[in-house]
Amino acid sequence: MPIKLPDLPFAPDALEPHISRKTFEYHHGKHHKAYVNKTNALIKGTDLDERPLELIVQAAYKQKDTALFNQAAQAWNHTFFWYSLSPRTGGVSGELAHDIDVHFNGVEAFLEKFVDKGVSHFGSGWLWLVRDGGELKIVTTANGDTPVVHGQTPLLTIDLWEHAYYLDFQNDRGAYLKAIVDSHINWEFAMGNYTADIDAHSR
Ligand code: MN
Repeated sequence: MPIKLPDLPFAPDALEPHISRKTFEYHHGKHHKAYVNKTNALIKGTDLDERPLELIVQAAYKQKDTALFNQAAQAWNHTFFWYSLSPRTGGVSGELAHDIDVHFNGVEAFLEKFVDKGVSHFGSGWLWLVRDGGELKIVTTANGDTPVVHGQTPLLTIDLWEHAYYLDFQNDRGAYLKAIVDSHINWEFAMGNYTADIDAHSR
């Protein structure tokens, strides 16, 4: 079975007025869909057909199949991005909040650093909060690159490609990032990823 374009986990107008229905219609319905379709075209008839997307991403990276890696990683990153967003942000608590306090001197300071890192990233790519060898880190990846092939566990991501924000913010990446961190971070998702990573490494 080919990989599928997953549904958005919220209505396309749920993040208005910050991220418009029109942006989601293009970003999910055209851009993400194209990455899924191109991945399926590239794996058709190969031994990666019928495999889960994360395995396709890892295999393409190991085989240095850049064409497949770019498409498959973009398909994976976008799904992770939709889940990193929430119509209304809740707070962060528990172990992750404590870890953020230790590493970044509090949630406010973390969010400021997170936005700065995204603003200063040159060109297309992704902004991530990852867990790497037990340490929380803010990283960016270029183009379609993804932390999952670098031994890092992503907790949250924000798309830095211009197609993510141009309709709503034109060239102002900083305003787009600020709107997300102020109103639309899915901390539940980040906390779930954090706990799952700790469980996976303590087995
Ligand atoms: Mn995108």
